[in-house]
Amino acid sequence: MESVYYVMSWLCHRTCRHCYEDRFRPYHGDELRSVVEQARANAPRIIDNLPDRFTYLDRAQPDANGAPVERTGTVILAGGEILLKEVREPVLYPAIRQLRARYAGQGGIQVIVQTTGDILTPRIAGELRDLGVAQISVSGVDDFHEGMQGEAAQAAFRARLSAMFEACGVQPVHHKAGEPRADSDGCRYNFFGATPDEWIGRLWPRGRAQSNELSTATIADNFCDRWSGGRNFLDHRYNGSEVSIDPAGDVFPCCLKTRHPVGNMLNAKLDRILDGLRGNPVYEAISAGQPQRMGLTHGWTEEEFLRKSVTRLPSGREYANLCIGCDRFHDEVLAPGPLVQIS
Ligand code: SF4
Ligand code: SF4
Repeated sequence: MESVYYVMSWLCHRTCRHCYEDRFRPYHGDELRSVVEQARANAPRIIDNLPDRFTYLDRAQPDANGAPVERTGTVILAGGEILLKEVREPVLYPAIRQLRARYAGQGGIQVIVQTTGDILTPRIAGELRDLGVAQISVSGVDDFHEGMQGEAAQAAFRARLSAMFEACGVQPVHHKAGEPRADSDGCRYNFFGATPDEWIGRLWPRGRAQSNELSTATIADNFCDRWSGGRNFLDHRYNGSEVSIDPAGDVFPCCLKTRHPVGNMLNAKLDRILDGLRGNPVYEAISAGQPQRMGLTHGWTEEEFLRKSVTRLPSGREYANLCIGCDRFHDEVLAPGPLVQIS
């Protein structure tokens, strides 16, 4: 598997209007205890059910003989905000230790921690570095995040955090996207944010982004055929493969999450879940980045799928996107709940 995007907890200190998930928000009292306990109890079981070897065969950059090269895969540990004190030491740190120990000496694993950066301190950056984290990815640098509007505010934020990182021996990422990272790189950092023409605009988002009508994606913007979409999710031995996992252990082909998960990792191995979907025309279509073909064997022609891909936004505006057709297909044709029963 090249990459796993693991949302460890629903807890967040913000309620951004562009957020793709309503459950990312502050929790209090019993709700907070329950969200934290879910994350704490499930993480070790989910990690146990990751592949025995966390590597992939890179067909894009083969060796001199044209053979695919085995490379180390990446797990992105994210929230919400996974550095909040309620989950940082009880959930995140043990998970990093478990991942590093499990794959030590057998191909390794690159751990990326994704954070808004809001609560990063030199102590936390140093702890992540010492735990062997390969990259701290600061994701909240955009106009949608309260207090981060405008280039001046974003530049000041980047400058402050860059100085803090570098004082802790954490250096900027220097390999290009898509290039393999060297094991000797140590702990690195980078910044990114949601921009209207990329992460928000070019997809049909869930959550508050959907109710706030922030998407400008059209039916021609096939998010499924992109990284973080469904493309290649079944090819888990090769480059380009990625799945997302939520705090309940549910597995999805894309970061947006299909209406129903394809399996649950509390009691099943990820590779068995994915191999069980092989040959299923619904999931083969998603893995091919062609969601409009997912219903062909269920009587949904591509034309029917496109008709089902239209909705009306809260304002009354008509809106069309392939992910809407995917949602409808899941609602109308596929039974809810995990589709693969692993005995
Ligand atoms: S966009 Fe990020 S910071 Fe904002 S509510 Fe969602 S998870 Fe939290
Ligand atoms: S079409 Fe379905 S599987 Fe593909 S990105 Fe959209 S929600 Fe995910």
